Formats: sequence, structure tokens, C-alpha cells
Amino acid sequence: MISDEFEKPLACWRGKERHDGVLVDCLTVIFKTAGCSWSRCRMCSYHHERYERMSGDALASHLHNQLAWVCREFANETFPMVKIFTSGSFFDPREVPPAFLSEVAKAFHGSILIAETRPEYIDADVISGFIAELDDGSHETPLYCAIGLETTNDTIREKCIDKGFAFSDFTRAASVAHGAGAGVKAYLLFKPLFLTEGEAFADMQTSIETAAQHAEIISMNPCTVQKKTELEYYWKRGEYRPPYLWSVLSLLKDAPVHVSCDPLGGGQKRGPHNCGKCDYDLVKGIREYSLNADRELLGALLEIECACKTEWDYILAHEQPFCMPLTR
Ligand code: SF4
Ligand SMILES: [Zn+2]
Repeated sequence: MISDEFEKPLACWRGKERHDGVLVDCLTVIFKTAGCSWSRCRMCSYHHERYERMSGDALASHLHNQLAWVCREFANETFPMVKIFTSGSFFDPREVPPAFLSEVAKAFHGSILIAETRPEYIDADVISGFIAELDDGSHETPLYCAIGLETTNDTIREKCIDKGFAFSDFTRAASVAHGAGAGVKAYLLFKPLFLTEGEAFADMQTSIETAAQHAEIISMNPCTVQKKTELEYYWKRGEYRPPYLWSVLSLLKDAPVHVSCDPLGGGQKRGPHNCGKCDYDLVKGIREYSLNADRELLGALLEIECACKTEWDYILAHEQPFCMPLTR
């Protein structure tokens, strides 16, 4: 049997992030938890990554071991920024025992922490208590609550994603977070199921503009087909295509605010892709843009000649919506 000493988070890596106009070192940790309480989003496979049913004490002990591993592994490093993901929501007390929040705040005292959560778990007392333990006074906003808003359109969020909350839940949570001293990061999903490229493009233009009125940081995730998801079922039947990288570039270039984007699976058939010939340079450029915010780079990439650009233009203009009968 493997000792608990070797228990690790699902993933943990160091990288760079752009924050307030400067590049900072960032540690990203994905903790294995009791799993997302919602577990219904059509494109999500993260909720498969969870512990089987166990007592709160056993769960707390597993999380404690994972955090201890992180602290040992990065003992000689300090990170201005730490991003925390779970298999769902960091502030959901059923998924992450409240005592563990305190352990995390102490472990990363003085860092800017970005923690992903659904909006219903943003509670003023929990957030302000967490900030009190995390904050050493060196950052104006020590905590950002990162919410997978996906889109500002309630119909798309309900029908194409099955997210289980409304835009008004997001705005309420954002104002609670702000009132408690936290910032807000919004994750947007570009091209969920059932939308044409053009519909998804228009939805993202509106969503970026509207979400920016409530969130200081916006990140756009071009949709990727993950294993064991409803999205994968449709994709395998040829009823879904991930978005074009041309669309991603164009959205980022014309967005009213800086939007970061890490196109996971970029250039591969399950991820955002073009024709295969031009993908590598575009994915690389999108990642660079997230860090340097250089819109001229995006403009130059959009000028690259490739036959698939004509195809993308045609798809944007002519693709028809998914033809699903309304009755049986
Ligand atoms: S996307 Fe988030 S809220 Fe939806 S099922 Fe996955 S972990 Fe849960
Ligand atoms: Zn191409």
C-alpha cells in the first residue's frame, strides 16, 4: 500500500500569469476533492476526478496530505500568485471541508490566490474569513473568486451547457465577493454544444462585454472535447466541431478588455483547431498574447495566409443551427 506521504494533488505546476499588466510567477494546483456537487455540465469530465464517498474527517486528511506534498515540493519557492482548482468548487463545504480553507490560506499567506467556485458557494463570511487568514497587507485584492460563468446568455447556459445557475446568480455572487474584499474572475466557454460557429462567436462577443462589467479578470476557454462527456457523444457522431482558431484570434483581438486564453488541446481534433497546417503558430501566438497583451501580434496572426481561412469565413456566414425537432 502506498503511504499517505506520497499522496499528491491531481496536478500541480509552475507557470506565468499576466496580472495588473505585469508577468508574475504562478503556481497552479488541482486538488482532488469530494467532487462537484452539480456534476451535470455537458462538456465537463472533471467531476469524474473525485474521492468515493467518505467521512468529512477522512476527506480532510486526504486534502491535508495533498497540501503537505505541495508545501514540501515547493518549499524553497514563493509564488506571487497561486491558482487553485478542485474537481468542482473550492468554497463548497461538502466538497472541501471548511477547516481545509484555513490550511490553504495559511500555506499561501501573502500570495494572490485565485480559487474556482460555483456562485452559490460565495458567502460573505466565508470569503472575508478566508481573506483575513490569507492577506499579509501587500495586495489590494488578495483573493479572486473564479466563476465558470461560461456565457452571459441564460438560454445558452441552460440548454447548451446545463450549468444550473443564471446570470443573476453570477452578478449576485460577484457583488458578495466584492463586498467581502475579493475580486472576480469569469471563465467563459467559447462554443458549447448545439451552437454554430457564428452563433458561438456572437455569444462570446456579448459575453465578454457584459461579464467585464462584473469581473476584473476574464478568461476564455475555447471548448475541448473531454472523454466521457455528453459533448464527446455528439462529437463522435459528427454533430459537434470545436471552434476555429481564427475565431479565437478574432474574438481576442477585438475584445473591449484583455481576455486571457490557453487553448487546451489547441490544434488537435478534440480541441480548437483549423486545418492542421497553420494551427501550431496560432496556438503559440494565442498563448503569448495571454501573457503580453500585444494586440498587434494577434493582428499579424490574422493576416497569415492559409486556405482554411476562406473555409472559416464561409462557415461563419453559412453554417446552419443544429436541426433538432421540437416534438416527438
Ligand atoms: S463545469 Fe464545473 S460546475 Fe459544471 S460539472 Fe464541471 S466541475 Fe461541476
Ligand atoms: Zn489553415
